[in-house]
Amino acid sequence: YQAKEGGGSVAAYDSSRDAASTDQLALLAELREALATDDQLVLALQPAVDLATGAPTGVEALIRWRHPRRGWLGPTDFIRPVENSEQLGTFTRYVLDKALAVAADWARQGLDVPISVNLSARSLLDPRLPAEIGEALRRHQVPPRRLVLEITETVVMSELEIIDEVLATLRSMGVQLAVDDFGTGFSSLAFVTRIAVDELKVDRSFVIRMADSPEAAAIVRATVGLAHELGLRVVAEGVETAEQRLALAELGCTAAQGYHFFKPMPADKIGAVLGSLLDAAQGNVFPLRADG
Ligand code: C2E
Ligand code: MG
Ligand code: MG
Ligand code: MG
Repeated sequence: YQAKEGGGSVAAYDSSRDAASTDQLALLAELREALATDDQLVLALQPAVDLATGAPTGVEALIRWRHPRRGWLGPTDFIRPVENSEQLGTFTRYVLDKALAVAADWARQGLDVPISVNLSARSLLDPRLPAEIGEALRRHQVPPRRLVLEITETVVMSELEIIDEVLATLRSMGVQLAVDDFGTGFSSLAFVTRIAVDELKVDRSFVIRMADSPEAAAIVRATVGLAHELGLRVVAEGVETAEQRLALAELGCTAAQGYHFFKPMPADKIGAVLGSLLDAAQGNVFPLRADG
């Protein structure tokens, strides 16, 4: 899943009015409503775990839309049109606010676990973003280190400068940065040399093919090596089997996320799960549960 540069406004869709774009316009109108009502857009939360101890290394927030007529929608059903609309800023602030409310909750429970939020590359074109995030962190009283921003590799060359500046400002504030879907883009490596980041997330496609494809295994190994050499965390995405977990550990990967450990879960479930993972990790017993 790749963030794309867009026409910049809903008007870009008007010019090519086919069935799909008409539907997208309807969806965007409905999203405006959802953003105003506060009960339709919810975060699903998926922990990542340390492969040696089972301790939670972080929790990723994944947006879900409980649509009043269309039923449950996932991000792939609506993120693309949102990214190309003027609602992106409102949407991004909404997700960050919800995620920081969750993080504040954990802080009150004494749970020291960072929350990861996916940001559309296009939202990084807004130079006001760092100040807004700073304000939201203060409002929720969440230390910047507890927020990880997951970035998929970006847009067009002309926009690199502004995005790099926004990311550098965020990092100087103490917010952590992760490169999502690492290895799938054209310039994942260049990204890491341009921007100081804290974490690499190995894309699920490599984890899936690792067992049968020496090339995929080599990419995982190289990513793990790169992360270690640069002093970054590395998290494998989409781990579904015990075989994959073992193979990752053998390649030196230290953390992983996926259905094998936990499926994304509702906010009211996550606190107890984190508590028991932290407890179990104290005894160094790996909790062999399939999901939450
Ligand atoms: P991502 O950040 O790479 O997230 C991982 C996706 O893989 C999620 O799908 C997650 O539910 C799914 N997943 C996790 N473990 C497994 C597994 O073991 N097997 C399989 N098959 N899938 C697994 P989801 O929630 O549909 O999200 C898709 C993408 O949408 C995300 O990819 C992310 O790029 C984007 N996204 C999600 N939430 C947000 C958001 O709040 N804002 C923005 N801008 N993008 C978001
Ligand atoms: Mg992600
Ligand atoms: Mg990813
Ligand atoms: Mg992915």
